[in-house]
Amino acid sequence: MPELPEVETVVRELNRALPGHRIEKVDVFRKDALGRVRPKVFASALQGKTFGKVGRHGKFLLFGLEPEGFLVAHLRMTGKFILSAPLKAPDPHHRVWFSLEDGQTLVFQDMRCFGTLAYVDRLDASASLAKLGVDPYSKEFTAAWLAGALKQSKTPLKHWLMDQKHIAGLGNIYVCEVLFRTGMSPLRRAHRVTAVQAALLHREIHAVLDQAIRKNGTTISDFRRVDEKFGEFQEYLQVYGREGEPCPRCGAPILRIRQQQRSTFYCGKCQT
Ligand SMILES: [Zn+2]
Repeated sequence: MPELPEVETVVRELNRALPGHRIEKVDVFRKDALGRVRPKVFASALQGKTFGKVGRHGKFLLFGLEPEGFLVAHLRMTGKFILSAPLKAPDPHHRVWFSLEDGQTLVFQDMRCFGTLAYVDRLDASASLAKLGVDPYSKEFTAAWLAGALKQSKTPLKHWLMDQKHIAGLGNIYVCEVLFRTGMSPLRRAHRVTAVQAALLHREIHAVLDQAIRKNGTTISDFRRVDEKFGEFQEYLQVYGREGEPCPRCGAPILRIRQQQRSTFYCGKCQT
């Protein structure tokens, strides 16, 4: 499942290619992605508009449109945006085509059909965005905010960090890596994190995400960049997916436990 760095990678690549291009036509081949919105309504909201800057909140992609509105997208498990040369017929996994004025097509492809697309006039009108916590790259996300928010909860630290209502965009892989780097156990209760440790956590969240973005994300299952290339961050993972391998810090075997139906990888010796 794409996490924040993968989505940020897609956002940056789309920003190099998309702004300024006008949407001539929208073709919906499978309407699941649109929720309850009728394909005709979705298409007519977008046709004739021009793509502006592409942004992000957590794992949501926010395509600015001119003269107004936003296309809000979530890739979920297997959603992808591909900017393609002129196309004649849709592939089986193509869900929506945005045909541009220069002949290119922005394709929304989604093998498993969990991805979502929505048109909104204003971002504060998006129900999905309203439920999200702070984005780790927003100015609201500070060490002081993190310390204060952690104090309010007795949830295990890993659950707390993965809850999208707290921080938008952190998922399993990166939370495992962040906790390893801070030496904190995924099982520690959130309120037991001191202000100094919260500052360390804040710093490592940025460090891990920054590094993953520089490496164009992590390709574990089938994340691909806009140009279909792989991410490279998987080569830098220190604990995720490394059950039984020696801890890079102390040599003890990396453990794997289940938390909320997800695998947690950590070192039982140096994460306390
Ligand atoms: Zn260790």
